[in-house]
Amino acid sequence: MTPKVARYLRDVAPATPCLVLDVDRVEENYRRLIAAMPLARIYYAVKANPAAPILERLTGLGSSFDAASLEEVEACLAAGARPEAISFGNTVKKESAIRTAYAAGVRMYAFDSEAELRKLARSAPGARVYCRILVGNDGAEWPLSRKFGCEIEMAKELMVQAGELGLDPYGISFHVGSQQTKTAAYEAAIGRVAMLFTDLKEAGVNLRMVNLGGGYPVRYRQEVPEIDDFGAAIMGAMAEHFGNALPEIVIEPGRFIVGDAGVVSSEVVLVSRKAKDDPVRWVYLDIGRFGGLAETEGEAIKYAFRTPHDGTADGPVTIAGPTCDSTDTLYEKSNYRLPLALDCGDRVELLATGAYVTSYASQSFNGFRPLAEHYV
Ligand SMILES: *Cc1c(COP(=O)(O)O)cnc(C)c1O
Repeated sequence: MTPKVARYLRDVAPATPCLVLDVDRVEENYRRLIAAMPLARIYYAVKANPAAPILERLTGLGSSFDAASLEEVEACLAAGARPEAISFGNTVKKESAIRTAYAAGVRMYAFDSEAELRKLARSAPGARVYCRILVGNDGAEWPLSRKFGCEIEMAKELMVQAGELGLDPYGISFHVGSQQTKTAAYEAAIGRVAMLFTDLKEAGVNLRMVNLGGGYPVRYRQEVPEIDDFGAAIMGAMAEHFGNALPEIVIEPGRFIVGDAGVVSSEVVLVSRKAKDDPVRWVYLDIGRFGGLAETEGEAIKYAFRTPHDGTADGPVTIAGPTCDSTDTLYEKSNYRLPLALDCGDRVELLATGAYVTSYASQSFNGFRPLAEHYV
């Protein structure tokens, strides 16, 4: 938690549940990433946290943006981003959204299928397009598996076809999965992309860009490699496979830029046991899976907690949200322990919750309003 967030929580004590996010930390993370990968161009993955103060700060820093929907394209434009700085990165887009984005000046689009390529040829003529390939997601705590991307052989055919359809076959992208803890995932993917570059060159298509996607991790309960380790591994692999003919390098960080800038403040609603002598206490918070903690599904992302009683004797807990839905249980199997002194009404902070929380909150499931947001 940054000093600014701590001060805000102490001095203002905003109603819970809420996110308090330090926009200066967003800037620091952006600068750290540039320092780790000076040759890469940053396209912030807006879906991680689309709040205007974040988009505005990043626009001022010269960032570009990876938008998942027309609404995100419009949010970037409203924050002052130039349309040339926006990539429409979802491989699944309504044709009407493509048409509107194109009319607004957006000229870079992702695809991973022939049908999407044909939409782009019709509704974004001449635009730069990049094909997303399937790569391994091993090492990712929030894998994206097989939903996006196509096999290499198909990517090759589609990139040839892109040129024939009047589009600009610009590059290749991949995503190694979010909260990726292994630098080797990027190295392996870069090797595959380089082979595709060579094959396409032989087919007369000169690609100019590699999009390494996102995935750069944030520290939750466990240590993760430093961003400099990812930078060194990635630039090493690019040099190994491309030599002096380095293409333009694009990265699409989401979690890394905003994750550790934010803290969710919540209130303990109930502490109970299922039997008098049960050692495990159930701790119910005023935020849960439907309040924005979607990444606790399968206990994939394991947030760290801070309580007013830290440092005192603790015991095992199951942690759950406030709604009348049994899937609204956050952690049952991940060996969480919280202080025995924890009581109803205590404030509990969930650290590094600046990414993938506010935008996941449901409208009013069980009547609960989505969490408030404070950008400081
Ligand atoms: C979600 C996503 C990102 C951001 O991933 P992080 O793990 O948050 O860095 C980047 N690119 C694409 C295409 C995505 O879908």
